[in-house]
Amino acid sequence: MTFEELGLSQKVLAAVQTSGYTTPTPIQAQAIPPALQGRDILGIAQTGTGKTAAFTLPMLSRLESGRARARMPRTLILEPTRELAAQVEASFAKYGKNHRLNVALLIGGVAFGEQETKIMRGADVLIATPGRLLDFFDRGKLLLTGIEILVIDEADRMLDMGFIPDIERVCKLVPFTRQTLFFSATMPPEITRLTEAFLHNPIRCEVSRAATTATTIRQVLVASRGHADKRETLRTLIRDAENFKNAIIFCNRKRDVATLHRSLVKHGFSAGALHGDMDQLARMASLDAFKTGEVSLIVCSDVAARGLDIPDVSHVLNFDVPTHSEDYVHRIGRTGRAGRSGVAITLVTEDDMKYIDQIQSLIGKAIDWEGPGFDALPPPMETSRPQERRGERAERGPRRERGRRPGAAEREAPVSRRPTAAAAEREAPVNRRPAAAEREAPASRRPTAAAAEREAPVSMGRSRGGRVKADGEGVRPPAYGAPAGPPAAERRERRPRHHEDDGPPVIGLGDHVPSFLLRPVALRPAKVGEE
Ligand code: AMP
Repeated sequence: MTFEELGLSQKVLAAVQTSGYTTPTPIQAQAIPPALQGRDILGIAQTGTGKTAAFTLPMLSRLESGRARARMPRTLILEPTRELAAQVEASFAKYGKNHRLNVALLIGGVAFGEQETKIMRGADVLIATPGRLLDFFDRGKLLLTGIEILVIDEADRMLDMGFIPDIERVCKLVPFTRQTLFFSATMPPEITRLTEAFLHNPIRCEVSRAATTATTIRQVLVASRGHADKRETLRTLIRDAENFKNAIIFCNRKRDVATLHRSLVKHGFSAGALHGDMDQLARMASLDAFKTGEVSLIVCSDVAARGLDIPDVSHVLNFDVPTHSEDYVHRIGRTGRAGRSGVAITLVTEDDMKYIDQIQSLIGKAIDWEGPGFDALPPPMETSRPQERRGERAERGPRRERGRRPGAAEREAPVSRRPTAAAAEREAPVNRRPAAAEREAPASRRPTAAAAEREAPVSMGRSRGGRVKADGEGVRPPAYGAPAGPPAAERRERRPRHHEDDGPPVIGLGDHVPSFLLRPVALRPAKVGEE
């Protein structure tokens, strides 16, 4: 099928041609013709399938007749995050370059004034996050009675973020006769209920589920202990990585995003961060710096990175194992795009094994291990579990054999959605922003000579393709974990002890306690219970 066969207008076809796209993706081929006829669409598709163009292109064609009126946008696109909203705006700029349409972006973290001016001028396309949209509406600065097309994008992520009541409210505020284009990667019951309530006889377009990982991605698991060890292992992996261009590093919690980002910068890596508490300008700047190659690492949380279109990422590094298996698929889908090869490396602690089993079950294959197994790892740099220090590990039951497929009972364990965790992601404050000196670290992923001197000479002891045996047999003796500098006992003395649940792990810096933490004035009490 070609784009010409879909029924798009000449102006749109010309823009698509300029973009260099020759063949519609499956979601575009399925959704565009009925969308052009004014039908409601239920698109079950994840990011990377071309779904943005699947709604942008027919919208542009349909908007060619008619004009926007002040304060009454003609179309509304709801996105769960500011970055996604900005990405959709960029799509309209690209595909709508032959149109003279007013596109307005209503997102949090940006001053009201300019947004208000655009709405007053009359917006053909309004792209918004739910919070800011309803804020405008409640202040009487916006009318939703002129909406002809409503797009709800990434609905399952809206659910994760607690936006469903806002979506329901918006659906009731727009005219009953509007066209609705609804997209979600998955269809949990709450989303099905929403589509039943607000879509009119929709055309269902479904493209492959988020359970398959591209064959162009080499997936690897690396055993590690607690956070401090993971940071050191991560640095080694980045330094030793082959064909490295850039990497997205995922953490499960935003406070860990901030901590890891600080740590990487301190070690001389060129890294940015992306999490829900950064102000909009900082988030955009971080993303731009990564896209342009100014920084080669970006540390993200799932919510902040959701759906971001960052082409050509060579490595995805999971600093934390995702607790929802589908997030694993989304995360590693950031690399190996469009037939390119990519590498996805996941750092795993023993406590993560149940999630690894679920992930392997979802993707239908075992992931290879590299480097020493848990038993061959050096002693932990800091012990996070008091009972382990007391030698009570046996009480936790036998260890699982790594890499094996789980039994049926384990596979059927439900992977529950946790909206509260995602909501907390948005709402809990991050401990502190990086100090100016940290932000101004040199733009190179290689550590500075001084930082390198502080480092232990490390090597990952790779055993590519070979699975590490559970008992560590046949594994090369660990080559890392013997940091240079003062003896271990002395280092431990200097380091405050830290329990992983004791609030922000600013104090869990391994051997690299920054000087500001050693000065009494900087030792502020940690906030507990942020997440
Ligand atoms: P999306 O799923 O909308 O985030 O799109 C993922 C990527 O695919 C974006 O970089 C698009 O520019 C690109 N894309 C969209 N449609 C096509 C197409 N028909 N052919 C090739 N690439 C496309």
